[in-house]
Amino acid sequence: MTDVRAIDLDALRRSGIEALLLDMDNTVSPHHSTTIVPEIRSWLAGLPDAGFKVRFVSNNWHDTIHARAAALGFEVVAKAMKPLPFGFWRAARELGLRLRACAVVGDQIFTDVLGGNLVGATTVLVEPLSASDLPHTRVLRRLERCIMAGRTPE
Ligand SMILES: [Mg+2]
Repeated sequence: MTDVRAIDLDALRRSGIEALLLDMDNTVSPHHSTTIVPEIRSWLAGLPDAGFKVRFVSNNWHDTIHARAAALGFEVVAKAMKPLPFGFWRAARELGLRLRACAVVGDQIFTDVLGGNLVGATTVLVEPLSASDLPHTRVLRRLERCIMAGRTPE
């Protein structure tokens, strides 16, 4: 899996997924950047036609997050505190769906994947779009690399 464009949307639909709960930073746009790769913008724009409802669920607390989401055409649950369940619960409630009909998509194991699994959603891990991360995220990245490599931290 590389970025979101590699996700097999048909397979998700066949498994009963009706909505994507997308992380923003480093999943659809590079961290702290308003730049959106045109190909990812078109992938996002095609989601409704592919039969998916969409909500961004982001731990980002900056005011700009709403404008960034709006520029991408979807609403956002900000300050979600992933992996806690509240943001996912709210997104699913707003979309009128059960979480088992949602796929959580993100670039971090300890927020997106762990949080999505805790609420019973399907989870999809993508590679981060940029190497830039918050300091606490950098620590978690090190643990992620260990997990993905199947070993414990030295
Ligand atoms: Mg992220």
